Amino acid sequence: MLISVAVPVPQLDLLTYRVPDGMTRPVVGARVVVPLGPRTVTGIVVDCNPVLDVAEADVKPVRQVLDHEAFVPTEVVELATWTAEYYAAGQGETITAVLPPKTRGARADAHKTVRVASITAAGIEALTGAASLTPRQRDALELVAGTAVGLPTPTLVARGVGADAIGRLARRGLVGLRLERVERDPFLATLVRLVSDEQDRQLTKEQVRALGRLQDLAGAGEFRVALLQGVTGSGKTEVYLRLASAVQRAGRRVLMLVPEIALTPAMASLFRQTFGDRLAIQHSGLSDGERHDQWQRIRRGEIDAVVGTRSAVFAPLSDIGLIVVDEEHDGSYKQEESPRYNGRDVAIVRAQRAGALVVLGSATPSLESSYNARAGKYERLLLERRVLDRPLAAVSIVDMREEYATVGPDVVLSRALTQAIAARLERKEQSLILLNRRGFATSVFCRQCGGTLECPNCSVSLVVHGEGSARRGRCHYCNYSVRVPKACPSCAGPYLEQSGFGTERVEAEVKRAHPGARVARLDRDAIGRRGALGRLLSRFRDGDIDVLVGTQMIAKGHDFPRVTLVGVISADVGLGLADFRASERTFQLLTQVAGRAGRGERPGDAIVQTLFPDHYSIQLACRQDYDAFYEHELKFRRAMRYPPLVSLVNFVVRSRTFAGAMGDAADFAQNLRQESRDAFRVLGPAPAPLGRLRGEYRAQILIKGTNRKRMREAVRSVIAGRHDLARRTIVDVDPFNVL
Ligand code: ADP
Ligand code: ZN
Repeated sequence: MLISVAVPVPQLDLLTYRVPDGMTRPVVGARVVVPLGPRTVTGIVVDCNPVLDVAEADVKPVRQVLDHEAFVPTEVVELATWTAEYYAAGQGETITAVLPPKTRGARADAHKTVRVASITAAGIEALTGAASLTPRQRDALELVAGTAVGLPTPTLVARGVGADAIGRLARRGLVGLRLERVERDPFLATLVRLVSDEQDRQLTKEQVRALGRLQDLAGAGEFRVALLQGVTGSGKTEVYLRLASAVQRAGRRVLMLVPEIALTPAMASLFRQTFGDRLAIQHSGLSDGERHDQWQRIRRGEIDAVVGTRSAVFAPLSDIGLIVVDEEHDGSYKQEESPRYNGRDVAIVRAQRAGALVVLGSATPSLESSYNARAGKYERLLLERRVLDRPLAAVSIVDMREEYATVGPDVVLSRALTQAIAARLERKEQSLILLNRRGFATSVFCRQCGGTLECPNCSVSLVVHGEGSARRGRCHYCNYSVRVPKACPSCAGPYLEQSGFGTERVEAEVKRAHPGARVARLDRDAIGRRGALGRLLSRFRDGDIDVLVGTQMIAKGHDFPRVTLVGVISADVGLGLADFRASERTFQLLTQVAGRAGRGERPGDAIVQTLFPDHYSIQLACRQDYDAFYEHELKFRRAMRYPPLVSLVNFVVRSRTFAGAMGDAADFAQNLRQESRDAFRVLGPAPAPLGRLRGEYRAQILIKGTNRKRMREAVRSVIAGRHDLARRTIVDVDPFNVL
């Protein structure tokens, strides 16, 4: 018997092995131990009946079959196969994406235990009778009494009950403490406090209508895609929750995808109120152990809903009736390493196979999804108003050209924004300030020779981090870092100057303009350590920070009711990039960030600083006019032949030398043109916009066309023809960015 096996090794396709007589015959999805060169690896059986033209004797035998049943459900193996094929990736590396970490046999490590507090008879008596309890003790007891099985002490601590208080209640015999073996539960670490009087609130008319329609669609038990387009603060999450709960009642399961790890705790806590213990989390921020435990519970059928980031689309969940992709337009759904899949699109394929409903939610849907909705492939449902009739933020634009002319060229915070922040500080309200660029200054240049400080490995200038003597120039692509020199490295002139600015500078300017304000920064540099992001967000939510400065990380999803001002420092940061999605991204980012203001009882303002006040994506974002933006942008895409009107494959060849990259790319381009026979267009080769990265030159070919199948086949065939170049080529099907 011959089998095809996917082994977790980059670039490799399926390998063939022989199952020796007498060995258990494996099934699709089972793990097998197989020899690979000098090593042995654990792979997943993908096909037990491959059509192959090889003699059994020429094939190496399987060493061991680890499972009698499928370890990875067949459905997920097939989804991985589809993903590998569609995205022109190796089956091996794609299988890695669907496996839980540490699947090698049984784990020897000890199980974790936790103390669980539950209410005693004396405790109930104390609560109902007249026992002397401090208000805090009463709160704690009520919390414990509210659950049938008790609460783990870390959960109690997370909800503000001190460990010593628990101890005192236990000594008085009001609660009992027992030691329990636990599955490593990621909720314990990431639990967020919730204002949870929300169970029975009234849905808005729009929510009712959308939910009703979605329940009908889900109830049909067929594959459907719905686009839930709802302005920021219109209560999409509430719709997801109720829909998920209805699907569970109907006996099917739910997959809830969010774009970022940072958004999972809040979403998971909400789902936990409905799903209790039958909820799992899957994302790469969990420890391997946590992920493994959760994966196994899903696999065993103990879970009805999974909340996670893009890789959760491969969760071993059966009987899926609903997949929600929240913020479906978000670039984080696209994996920027092989397999370069888009979690949203894989979700749609998965739902198609499962006969499930997909809900794509967004205030600013991707052009692709809107296009599909208008073509009748998806059903569009609208939430046009915020809950409780809260108004959208009033947006005003500050033309920075005028500001520079009046105040001077070094302005970071306009007068209008400074005043608005001051007013918030006075009223004890909060402000969010966005600049989608990290660092203190964007470049260092020499006044004498005009040169700039560049990364020695990449074709970009170094970004200045820090101030004074601590200044360093850093490459945001390869992390190269160097102390900023006193003299120009090329002409030795002493006239080095900084230009441009990033979030660090904005933070410094806010502090300078508002002494005494509690200012913090949220960007990738500020949240290096695990858990730092969550801590910063909860400090902001708790009101311990007045002004939060940050990159697009602050724009997404978060619900901060006390924010009444959003400032955007340079709204046009992204517009300069040589990327066909630049306008779309700018529009989405501005709409999202403006949507962070005024989500509580007080209305919000947004102030947008820009050098291009007339650009359509800035104008229309300020007016929050999605439909007008869509029409305008679609015209541009049509004229330029870009998605969603055509499909795109970005093909990049890397090499140590420029000539090498261009030469190899030229070969590929020629072969692609031969394969194309006018079914698609091949552009290039040309130096990629990011022409050099980590010491390698990059040449780019763009393939555009409407016949995806032909494009994919051509790509596969030209790559197969040049196996020697496999390690140096990047094939990106449906690329998110083309740098
Ligand atoms: P969106 O995801 O559409 O931006 P959210 O789902 O975050 O909006 O909802 C915004 C806020 O409104 C949240 O605090 C949510 O709890 C609250 N909310 C949602 N639905 C209702 C409702 N029907 N009545 C009152 N508040 C609601
Ligand atoms: Zn670099």
